[in-house]
Amino acid sequence: MRIAVIGSGYVGLVAGACFADLGHEVVLVDNDQQKLAALQAGRCPIHEQFLPELLDRHRGQRLQFTDNLQEAVRSSAAIFVAVGTPPTDQGDADLSYVESVAREISGAIDGYKIVVEKSTVPVYTSEWVRKIILRNGAPVDSFDVASNPEFLREGTGVTDFLYPDRIVVGADSERCAAVMREIYAPMTDGSYYKKHDAIPRPDRAQTPPPIIVTSTKSAELIKHASNAFLAMKISFINAVSSICESVGANVQQVCQGIGTDSRIGPRFLNPGIGYGGSCFPKDLMAFRAVARECGYDFRLLDEVIRINEEQRHRFLRKIRNALWTLRGKRIGILGLAFKGGTDDIRESPAILLVQSLLQEGCHLCAYDPAAIERTREVVGNKVEFATNAYDAAAGADALLILTDWEEFATLDLSELKRKMRYPIVIDGRNLYLPETMAARGFSYYSVGREPALADNQSTRASDNPQGATRKA
Ligand code: NAD
Repeated sequence: MRIAVIGSGYVGLVAGACFADLGHEVVLVDNDQQKLAALQAGRCPIHEQFLPELLDRHRGQRLQFTDNLQEAVRSSAAIFVAVGTPPTDQGDADLSYVESVAREISGAIDGYKIVVEKSTVPVYTSEWVRKIILRNGAPVDSFDVASNPEFLREGTGVTDFLYPDRIVVGADSERCAAVMREIYAPMTDGSYYKKHDAIPRPDRAQTPPPIIVTSTKSAELIKHASNAFLAMKISFINAVSSICESVGANVQQVCQGIGTDSRIGPRFLNPGIGYGGSCFPKDLMAFRAVARECGYDFRLLDEVIRINEEQRHRFLRKIRNALWTLRGKRIGILGLAFKGGTDDIRESPAILLVQSLLQEGCHLCAYDPAAIERTREVVGNKVEFATNAYDAAAGADALLILTDWEEFATLDLSELKRKMRYPIVIDGRNLYLPETMAARGFSYYSVGREPALADNQSTRASDNPQGATRKA
């Protein structure tokens, strides 16, 4: 199948490279000349496991890059739209990129094609895309609009795409559904997974994945509802972690106890500094706006968002309670990306905390395995950057762990302690056991667990960062 993917960002680039690996002829379109130049020169503009291998494998053969959208549309049977859908000031999704792409596509439709929404969009977008394409002159029977929401997570985008829990296809005609089935056939018939050079199967992946064919409206809702539910799970456990802190319970034990209930499941029960990234915050606001427009006041989502913001403020209070005053303190920062495995800092809680600490007058020295360049574009030279975790900790009054990179969970604790001015670690991702940290001489503060103080530190009221009075 000849496929055009419009928008070569985190989703478009991964989808395009994976479609090529499934055997399709793919042309990736973008209007960002810098990005195109990087792709054409053989560079991978984002940090994503297996993506450089796939680009090397297919570049110039089954994978082409261009800024010529109309030519790409003319040469393709399926056009996937994967441009951004950022939030407006009011919180609903800004669909102007989708609209402008739909307008351009219209002029290049010269035979039956399907236009597929890959971007996350509110319900009714497919109807609007159809109207815009018709309004700009494409004949009624020359195209269909499908919705094919993407569930990949940054950092594991390639394996998430190729080994999904399910493929959701919203199509309102059998002709359109048939094209979508054909595109995903190498996955749904299992043939891709038998290839000797298939991207390795991750743990837990079930193949072949099921394909769920729905109406376009249902598919659009499935994506928003999925993200809202996952964000709700995170906020729920963060709320529980606050109670754990007040009563002296251990949220990790609580998670184990509730996550083993098969109706609940253990995933996304990770207490921390809240969710971020380019999806959850904007998709929740967009879903709330959609609901409001339909006359439903989705107040549950207000609360999910409120808890998420509050979680960051609680963490700031925790830092203040551990260090007393902040002005002039030197703080090491481990992690800037919104989660481990990616260089994406959009809506990263780590960046929001960095900005708050700068406002408080702290000196920050930060390290992240992938996100330093992107952070530099936002904070300039207000933050010092280190080339490894130990240098970030050097001379620090405290070290903050803000992103769950694997390498931050396996630090050489003796080396870390030797480097720091005071051995105080405030962990927003619960990467260590409090008892281990105390035994290794750290004062260790985490989320939803009692602070652990180095063996030589006495327990005083001020050492309890939650300031909670524990009842006997
Ligand atoms: P992104 O900003 O990384 O990529 C969007 C790309 O589209 C950019 O490269 C931009 O230059 C390009 N673009 C914009 N207008 C264009 C035009 N007129 N012609 C050609 N190219 C154009 O965004 P992303 O993170 O890939 O997200 C894209 C969509 O996918 C969003 O709706 C997002 O919500 C959704 N999504 C994202 C993820 C994720 O993890 N990032 C996961 C699932 C769904």
